[in-house]
Amino acid sequence: MIELPIENCPVCEYEKIPSSSYYVAGPSRLYQCPNCGDFIITLMAYRFTPIINDLNVKALVSYFIRNNSSSENPIFIDRNKYEEIINTYKLPSTSEQINNLLKWFGRQSDNSLDTVDGYTKNLPALIGAKNQLQVINLLDQLLKDDYIEMENPSMDLRERPSFNGFCGYLTSKGISKLEELDRSNTIITFNTPVLSVEKFLKDETKNLEVKGSLQLDLNRLLKGEGKKVNDINVALSGVLKSITSFLNTSGGNILIGAVETDKFKLDEINKIEYKLFSNYYLIGVLVENNNLDNYQLTFRNLTSSHISKEVSGLVDIYFNEFEGFTLCNVAVNKVNHKWYYLDRKFFVRDGNRTIELTGEDGDNYKIRNKRF
Ligand SMILES: [Zn+2]
Repeated sequence: MIELPIENCPVCEYEKIPSSSYYVAGPSRLYQCPNCGDFIITLMAYRFTPIINDLNVKALVSYFIRNNSSSENPIFIDRNKYEEIINTYKLPSTSEQINNLLKWFGRQSDNSLDTVDGYTKNLPALIGAKNQLQVINLLDQLLKDDYIEMENPSMDLRERPSFNGFCGYLTSKGISKLEELDRSNTIITFNTPVLSVEKFLKDETKNLEVKGSLQLDLNRLLKGEGKKVNDINVALSGVLKSITSFLNTSGGNILIGAVETDKFKLDEINKIEYKLFSNYYLIGVLVENNNLDNYQLTFRNLTSSHISKEVSGLVDIYFNEFEGFTLCNVAVNKVNHKWYYLDRKFFVRDGNRTIELTGEDGDNYKIRNKRF
């Protein structure tokens, strides 16, 4: 029987938080979550709604709590309240999320007179993001646009999926942007936050991989008879394998829609539209599927059926426009609670390669890198 969790937030799953039982016309618990804020939820609302497993619902309810509850007057969520929330509330768009984050920076720097200390873990609910990784993406965008500065700018944020605590401040550009936001009371649009494609293609490293397509057989299209054919083996030996290995190592990013120039001769690549960039031919993902919703759906179906249903919660997909092509960025979260398999095969990263570990090698790896 499903019970209300005692140590974790039932909405965002934040671990080890204070909670206490409560009784209002049935069992309930009061939670004090650093991400969502303080709230009371009934066992029935937890047991009989998608709060328990739907990530979009979780994000929405979490965002609602953070914006409508306080420790003095914690909101009470029963099944009616839940219905009200999902019928009247909406998750903010990416631009709104960035605005929320920038405004938060403004409030924090007013309070602390300059530097802002934050935990990406405590911010998803505040800005309406689905997870910590999205927060990191948004921070990265603010950094790239010079609205904020970090005290420790040693590394690109997106390259460390475990990134948590940070110390930063608003730049003068950030301050004037905030003033503009206050004055106009409108949303200022930003580009979709993505890691820089340019940087990505120039230094493919341990946590970055570039793939030509999800499941379109490019060899058959460009070297073979020229037909567009999807082949599950392309996905299995490419994107899906990389996702599995990132999940078993420390997360990472996959960019889909570019191929290394040495893979195809000029008369081969000339059969489709492309653009030369660094050591890659940019081909984009529209050649594979010109309906991006459909592309995402295919992607989700492939990861659920060959890796795990959980993958959709651990992986974020963004589409980026770059040099006239639509590329797909797959951001894989760092996880440490269990191991993942691709059709029962076990893959890990070894430097900038993906390798399969079988038998004793796999056992030894799992002993050396414990997961709980
Ligand atoms: Zn929470």
